[in-house]
Amino acid sequence: MERNFNEAVELSQKYLDLIAREELTNSEKDWVVQETVKCFRDHVNPGFLEYRKSVSTDYTSVEWKDSGSTFTDVYGREFIDCLGGFGIYNVGHRNPKVIETVINQLKRQALHSQELLDPLRGFLAQLLAKITPGDLQYAFFVNSGTEAVEGALKFARMYTGRTTFIATTRGFHGKSLGSLGATAKGVFRKPFLPLIQGFRHVPYGDADAIAMMLESSAFIGEDVAAVILEPIQGEGGVIVPPDDYLPRVRQLCDRYGALLILDEVQTGMGRTGKLFCCDHYNVVPDILCLAKAFGGGVMPIGAFVSRKEIWQKLIDNPILHSTTFGGNPVCCAAAIANINIILSENLPARAAELGEFMIGRLKELAAQYPSVVQEVRGKGLLIGIEFVTNEIGYEVAKGLFARGVLVAGTYINSKSIRIEPPLTISKEQLEQVLERLKDTLAEVKGMVERGEV
Ligand SMILES: *Cc1c(COP(=O)(O)O)cnc(C)c1O
Repeated sequence: MERNFNEAVELSQKYLDLIAREELTNSEKDWVVQETVKCFRDHVNPGFLEYRKSVSTDYTSVEWKDSGSTFTDVYGREFIDCLGGFGIYNVGHRNPKVIETVINQLKRQALHSQELLDPLRGFLAQLLAKITPGDLQYAFFVNSGTEAVEGALKFARMYTGRTTFIATTRGFHGKSLGSLGATAKGVFRKPFLPLIQGFRHVPYGDADAIAMMLESSAFIGEDVAAVILEPIQGEGGVIVPPDDYLPRVRQLCDRYGALLILDEVQTGMGRTGKLFCCDHYNVVPDILCLAKAFGGGVMPIGAFVSRKEIWQKLIDNPILHSTTFGGNPVCCAAAIANINIILSENLPARAAELGEFMIGRLKELAAQYPSVVQEVRGKGLLIGIEFVTNEIGYEVAKGLFARGVLVAGTYINSKSIRIEPPLTISKEQLEQVLERLKDTLAEVKGMVERGEV
């Protein structure tokens, strides 16, 4: 494309004026949609226009603003957000306390000098030590989930001196070159092989499989540095393991001197009805990974948290692992507000209560539509609905969107969709979701009967 600085100044000013506007005129709204589609087609990825077709058949579903448990497209159509950014919005969209805190911090300092001691990093780390289970004490802050997992993997190698990892099939731990080794879907991994060596994948939910892998790895002299797991698989389609799974894996790790890394990027911060999902099982990991909802649905921030011994080499050399933006003041401020809200409003208990209500009602609906729904499962407000086929799931997601409810399949298909609304969502809104789902299921049942899907 021809370089044109004058045009870039003009265009950027036009974008800035739009960002600053509270209301758009009708012609501006049309322009935003056309410009967005054009820019995606020519400069982001035209594949998205096709990929997102379940939610944008006419390409007019361009999002513009959000608040509480809803977001609104450019034309003012409101959607109840049951996707919750795959678990970002635990305290809701633009929670006022998070926004206020971020604005206050922005007025003083956004990023840090990189050299002096930045107080909010310290404050947030102390809060994490107080709210995480067991003797987790030190925190390293990053910008995303995949970076939290990268750090956890590096620290497990550094501490144990071992290089073998056990992960689970259908697990999701991010897509950077290290964490992708733990992620377990071939479709994401294949074009990038070989990844870092030493990952062994075993079926999720099967502690015996982990036992066997730990034993055979030790036997062949490739002792396991760590087992990495999601306490409930999110991206895998909301897979809840047997109740004794985590406790057994904890015992096995102890027996073989392997660390247990729990990836609570999606299940953490109250989502499943406890502050951390591992609290359901009274299991303490050696390293806990957080991100997604950790920044209060406003700022991107992740963390990995661990015990002092595991930190020792970083204490000896504090720049052994580092990041420029990780743990910056404005993100830490958001995370501090987030923790305050989740605890003071008791959102984990709210998630447990609303989750029980929702899962109960969804199971009733599932029983009425056996030709459409295969299974409902979940914990707290991390809920999965599995459909009879991928195509049926896709039609349901599409039908819900047409009725003003956003849900999503997993990355690779829609056989299971996830219901992950803000933990602050009202019961009335959940009832509306159930109402609209009922209409959608009736419609899709008709399609199934007529052989259209
Ligand atoms: C989303 C997710 C990640 C990756 O987080 P990003 O911020 O997208 O890098 C890692 N682990 C789990 C369990 C996740 O759900």
